[in-house]
Amino acid sequence: MHYINSSKKNINYTPITVAMGDGIGPEIMDATLGILQNAGAMLQINTVAIGEDVYKKGFSSGISPDAMQTILENRVLLKAPITTPQGGGYKSLNVTLRKALSLYANIRPCVSFYPFVDTLYPDMDVVVVRENEEDLYSGIEYRCTENSYESLKLVSRTGCEKIVRYAFEYAKKYNRKLVTCMSKDNIMKMTDGLFHAVFDEVAQEYPEIQSNHYILDIGFARLATQPNIFDVVVTLNLYGDVLSDIAAEMTGSVGLAGSANIGKEYAMFEAIHGSAPAMTGRNTANPSALLNAAIMMLVHIGQGSVANKIHNSFLYTIENGYHTKDIAGQYTKEILGTKEFAQKIIDNLGKIPTSIKAAPQYDDFTFDAKVEHKKSATNKDIVKVNQNLMGVDVFIKYHGNAKEFGDQINQIKFANLDLSHISAKGFKVYPSDEADFFASDYYRCRFVSKVQTSIPQITELMLTLNLKGFEIIKTQNLYNFDDKMGYSMSQGE
Ligand code: NAD
Repeated sequence: MHYINSSKKNINYTPITVAMGDGIGPEIMDATLGILQNAGAMLQINTVAIGEDVYKKGFSSGISPDAMQTILENRVLLKAPITTPQGGGYKSLNVTLRKALSLYANIRPCVSFYPFVDTLYPDMDVVVVRENEEDLYSGIEYRCTENSYESLKLVSRTGCEKIVRYAFEYAKKYNRKLVTCMSKDNIMKMTDGLFHAVFDEVAQEYPEIQSNHYILDIGFARLATQPNIFDVVVTLNLYGDVLSDIAAEMTGSVGLAGSANIGKEYAMFEAIHGSAPAMTGRNTANPSALLNAAIMMLVHIGQGSVANKIHNSFLYTIENGYHTKDIAGQYTKEILGTKEFAQKIIDNLGKIPTSIKAAPQYDDFTFDAKVEHKKSATNKDIVKVNQNLMGVDVFIKYHGNAKEFGDQINQIKFANLDLSHISAKGFKVYPSDEADFFASDYYRCRFVSKVQTSIPQITELMLTLNLKGFEIIKTQNLYNFDDKMGYSMSQGE
């Protein structure tokens, strides 16, 4: 017995937490654990319940405090997919786990097994490294007026540095030659611009690895048509979410790709697909995605030789035509059920593929996220600069055209804060020739000062606007950092 399902600690075993999940989750987890056990993985497993039943018991994140405690103690989680119940009030379990465990890097290798699994992309072997904690996934959203909603995109220098460095460290350890950054810094010059700038800085520390950058629209298009020109791709959270699903699907089936969520202290490994409720209990689900996630887990905890053995057996099984239904094609010798496919991989342990490229020699190293994390800057390393308050953007609800609104705001005079302009959706509408025609219900009034201003002055401005009957929705202070503008200009300004 190489793994034990016990709560007792045993020094020879790596403690991990296993979540069986919903739908096909328990079937593919049983299959995966059976393979791990037969391959000699040294694991002490604590099983926790997560998902649909837990949501329905009233835990809005799909996980109980006890289960979370077990995950925190064991530090490594192997998670089967869960079903998110329909209806409101349920929080994403994955987002909860990523935030609670600070899992800042999401790693998704997407590799084709051509010709054994049908795909339009025979040469595909791309690893998507997705930032996992920042960006629009902060979930900070507001309804500002009857018509307008907004969502905050948050990006930090330390967050960018951590993920970019991880991508380069990953490339180094896995002998990858090229790291590509994808961003939309032609539009989001500050947030995506920071990501790109940090990428260029960190790239210089890795002269042995090539690097390049794509604006993401052409980057996505190229990846979808010529994946072979990419190797490791690092990108922000939302883009990475979309790109990694596209890339995984391109390899032939969502049933194949696993992903790793890595943080300084904790790690979570899972299939990329969901719980496929319609397939539940039919013994037809492909366990490969969860198995590939488990292989990454074994590498992470330093059991690289077991990972290598399982990975090679998996590849050997695929190239010998033993497939589950979702990947069956002209090279399929036999379509197997979930259990039988897992048994075939167990039978093939020790075999090496001859057509598909064999698994890396994982046992040569311990791929440990902590090594990379130590080298990255933290909040303590942030270099202080002079941050001067130079004005304020006041967002006002007003139903009507821009000229009428702007003329009213322009009449109000303040000590050292002048109306620079008014914009709507980032586009300057006052003063403007189009002000007569443009109408919105949500305007941004930019007030700036030639010299440094202060919170009392801004408060006075707010009070004046309020007394004149304007409905202030929110304000955003405008700062210069060492005399460099810390805010974007409006289009047309
Ligand atoms: P899904 O990934 O569960 O299934 C989509 C389709 O992909 C299935 O109909 C099936 O044809 C195929 N498929 C998925 N996994 C497969 C496998 N292992 N073998 C063979 N075919 C497979 O996506 P969905 O139907 O949109 O979502 C179902 C549930 O899963 C939802 O409740 C959703 O919220 C949840 N979900 C959970 C996770 C997670 O836990 N990480 C991720 C995505 C979706």
